[in-house]
Amino acid sequence: MTDGQTLLAVFVLLYLIECLRLVHASAWMASGAGKSGWSLLRPWMRLQIGSGSPLLLSPLPPMQAHALALPWVFVPHHDSLRVQLTDRMNVHIAWGKLAPRAEEATLHLDVTTRVSLPSKTLAELWQQRLTEWQGLTPDQRQSTFLKYARTTLDTKSAAKAATEAAQRTRSLRVLATIHCLWCFGVISVLYYRLGDSVAVLAAAGVLVLLQFIQSWLFLRSTQKNHIAIPHRRWRALGIAFLPQLAMRAFDVVNLTTDAEPPHPLAWRGLLDEKCWLKNARQFWREARYVPGWAQNDSLPLEAEALQKFFRHEDIAEEDYDPPAAAKLPTCPRCGAEYQSSITVCSDCGGVELRQPAA
Ligand SMILES: [Zn+2]
Repeated sequence: MTDGQTLLAVFVLLYLIECLRLVHASAWMASGAGKSGWSLLRPWMRLQIGSGSPLLLSPLPPMQAHALALPWVFVPHHDSLRVQLTDRMNVHIAWGKLAPRAEEATLHLDVTTRVSLPSKTLAELWQQRLTEWQGLTPDQRQSTFLKYARTTLDTKSAAKAATEAAQRTRSLRVLATIHCLWCFGVISVLYYRLGDSVAVLAAAGVLVLLQFIQSWLFLRSTQKNHIAIPHRRWRALGIAFLPQLAMRAFDVVNLTTDAEPPHPLAWRGLLDEKCWLKNARQFWREARYVPGWAQNDSLPLEAEALQKFFRHEDIAEEDYDPPAAAKLPTCPRCGAEYQSSITVCSDCGGVELRQPAA
């Protein structure tokens, strides 16, 4: 490798590191710019660092804004609190053993369980909320949860928050796109063709100029805002001198927020309807079809919240819970088919199978 190639590889690596975020393992990220057509990103769940998982924000130009959503991490059950750790893993903590304590953005729940939340404010809010839940009766907890669920499923405010965030960083993103193409495209080509020359030096000068403008735009867009960016001036200095910080300055503006993240299903309208419906079915299956579903008269709490939301959004039951067409007993949760003699799904922890219509 020549010096130029090594330098380019180092820049690419630093840039990709800047695109990484540590989020809760069951978090969802949407990326886009307009009023609809946003796409989804998920963290790499197999890797757990602390109590979060890494997520790669969309790195390629044109630069997209990002918005975070979080499914219901804390759900009150009759004698325990269910805590979602990843998409497939959750723990139950008995109400008596629960001792919530916020430490920066991490919420410690008992001796071993901790959850990382998007901000310190949110960790403190959940500490307070869970302490309140502890003192309530099971019925009161249920109605409090349903109220909370309804606020996180507000489709209008979720779409508004995402599009406003994209609007706020528009000029930062346009300049970042130019900056990225200049840094990895123009300069690399010039260096490849001309080697160490005045033209390459001039191109590097343009790069620094773009960074200075980016730094100024960053200071301007975070000046009067409701968002308090930690070490804002130091960060602006970094943006002026480090290309990778300059290219991803808009992420800091978009993702630094103390607001409660919406539920991923609140992004109806922002996402493609087909993609949204697929996620809606998945959330419904996991909330509705739990062991014992065939005998229980009432819906599990999360399924009740989702059903209310689907009714409010005018979505027919056959859309979010399509009837099975299989001729064999089928697991309603994961869709696996079984022989006629089997009655529960072994993969889903004993969920009763749905028998085919006679
Ligand atoms: Zn199953």
